[in-house]
Amino acid sequence: MHRNARFRQVAALTAIVSALGAVTAFGVAPLADIELPPIETVTESVVLGLQNPDAIDSFVQTETIRRGDTLAALLARLGANDPEFLRFASSDPLARKALQLRAGRGVQAEVDWLGRVTRYSYRVGGLEDDSGADAARPATRLEIRRDGDRLVASEAEVPLERSTEMRSVEIRSSLFAATDAAGIPENVAIKVAEIFGGDIDFHRDLRKGDRMRVVYETVREADSLDAAAASKVLAVEFFNDGRRFDALLFERDERPEYFAFDGRSLKKAFLRNPIEFSRISSGFSSSRLHPIMRDWRAHRGVDFAAPTGTRVRASADGTVEFIGQQRGYGNVLILEHRGEYSSLYAHLNSFADGLRQGSRVRQGDTIATVGSTGWATGPHLHYEIMIRGEQVDPMAVALPESEPLNGADRIRLRQAATEIRLALDQLDAIRLARFE
Ligand SMILES: [Zn+2]
Repeated sequence: MHRNARFRQVAALTAIVSALGAVTAFGVAPLADIELPPIETVTESVVLGLQNPDAIDSFVQTETIRRGDTLAALLARLGANDPEFLRFASSDPLARKALQLRAGRGVQAEVDWLGRVTRYSYRVGGLEDDSGADAARPATRLEIRRDGDRLVASEAEVPLERSTEMRSVEIRSSLFAATDAAGIPENVAIKVAEIFGGDIDFHRDLRKGDRMRVVYETVREADSLDAAAASKVLAVEFFNDGRRFDALLFERDERPEYFAFDGRSLKKAFLRNPIEFSRISSGFSSSRLHPIMRDWRAHRGVDFAAPTGTRVRASADGTVEFIGQQRGYGNVLILEHRGEYSSLYAHLNSFADGLRQGSRVRQGDTIATVGSTGWATGPHLHYEIMIRGEQVDPMAVALPESEPLNGADRIRLRQAATEIRLALDQLDAIRLARFE
């Protein structure tokens, strides 16, 4: 490992541990004085910096975008009646971004007494654009202003604020219900399901009374009260049906990776289940269909029932060997992996944008969505893993594991893990005391 990489890694861990150390210190303070992080996520927005001193007879409104919203409906809720603004937003190349409405995100608008929009502000990128990997990307904000008789659009980068959060939750019905109740961003639940995906089937194995303690970093637009998005899970413990699992984010060779507290790598060379764990796959499958496993010998693949549109992930790093249609399989994608492995995904509804033969993908990348093309009676993913062109049973075959941590790295990881466990135990102690 490079020396400076090691310094960075130590610095990152020190930051985590000192953040946790602050929490540990709470343990010696009188319990009544303890200020825990808020459990509720703030969803109401306030007016920030939009007042126009010249517009006396105007008011500033904020509104949250709803699922299935249109810009016209949003403007109506903001108290505006401005066909000119709508025309501008559909014709100006930059202003068109106002049409990319993301449910849950807030917009701010200043509306004059004629119902015209004099200023409109909307964050168009960054944060929750995916399940966390790109959350470090700068966010930009679109602003549309009325300048005399015309409208002008501009876009600027907005600063982000990061913070570390710790939560302890008990699962009563589903992982999402538990994380929602605790104000934990949705992508933390998705990431945790991914981290422990090799050991726990989050669609079927969860039990009432399972517990999770998690440390994660959030990122939010500075000067905004939009809900924070989680950028990464730093550490997590999961208690499932009497078993305990743990994971810690740690940099090895400058690449962040999850390890168990004892130093074992949790990275699997292959995902056994390439369906993204999501609210929709979770609800759909826990009730009945997941996964449908037909007789493997006759069928040479595994079928995962999931609603049309559910995201399919690359089960390992690789390149696209085939993308297109084949009889029976419908829309099918084949990935070639390092060594002698390949994987196949069939009955797809659509492929990820820009994917073509020879494209490189990383494990976990979205490559397609579930469908029912070809010979399929209902929406499901047909999944095969092949070794030297021969199908093997993905649910049974021994797949290669990543290297464990060694030497000094392992010692440092264990030290960090010990500190984090102490902090997490402390968190539970504080909360129990509070609820008495
Ligand atoms: Zn099948």
